[in-house]
Amino acid sequence: MTTARKPPPPLFGRPRAEVEAELGEREPVRCPLCHLEPKRFATDPQGFHLARCPGCGLEFQSPRPPFERLAEIVYAREYGDLADTAAEVTPEKRARYQRQLDRIERFLGRRGSLLEVGCGAGAFLRVAAERGWAIAGTDIQLSEGARQSGARLWAGRLKEINFGGQRFSTVRFHHALEHTENPLAELERARELLEPGGLLYVSVPNLAGLSPRLKSWQSRWRLKPRPWRHYAALHHLWYFTPESLNKLLERAGFRLRHWETPHVPKPGEAAWLTLLYRRLLEKPRWGSILDVYAQPR
Ligand SMILES: [Zn+2]
Repeated sequence: MTTARKPPPPLFGRPRAEVEAELGEREPVRCPLCHLEPKRFATDPQGFHLARCPGCGLEFQSPRPPFERLAEIVYAREYGDLADTAAEVTPEKRARYQRQLDRIERFLGRRGSLLEVGCGAGAFLRVAAERGWAIAGTDIQLSEGARQSGARLWAGRLKEINFGGQRFSTVRFHHALEHTENPLAELERARELLEPGGLLYVSVPNLAGLSPRLKSWQSRWRLKPRPWRHYAALHHLWYFTPESLNKLLERAGFRLRHWETPHVPKPGEAAWLTLLYRRLLEKPRWGSILDVYAQPR
């Protein structure tokens, strides 16, 4: 007999004691680039530890909950539910994805096959397919939206999937790399999965953006009611700047082609405000999102 049980509410924003009851265990993490033990600089209100590598400056969570536990509690349980409501391609999403595909096609010089790591509800894959791309995706747990996109799909973590020798002209990590157990290992695997001359696209939160910098400063000086919340440490295990992400890309065998910090307008945002943000944040590359395009060396 099966019992329909209401899933527990998402953990983000819940009190530290509740988070620790589900995710109490912690294990140390070393810098994937330098293999050094990081120095802890803060603990957020939910009890997650933020640390920085003394060698290269890469920031990440350490000690942190075991990845398998996070995969089970956060990604499978909470993202699985989210994915089905995110399948819709809104005009905002379409504009954002078209911009990314414009750049991918410019650097690649053609269309081809695209693998999205962490494909969620499959909204991007649908837009890519409309433009003539052959689409494929992976996710820890495949959503109904992804299944309906017509993409070739694999469930599981990238390192565990056997692609049977298949390679792709583009690999995309869209707000996925900061959730992985080891971003260097993910990028190295992506390098193996790319055809010669292929293109990697990565989008992550930009720790060096103006707004995150301001929030970090406020957190350090205790001027923020919920300090370090902008790190979103329950979900994000790694925190990148253009510099630290580039170090990882180089180590994984990539050469950077282009980076930018696109402004993503909120639904209903006034046109003049969007224009202002574009002028103020996109031009000097101070935005809160970091997009990079890279190719195998
Ligand atoms: Zn390091």
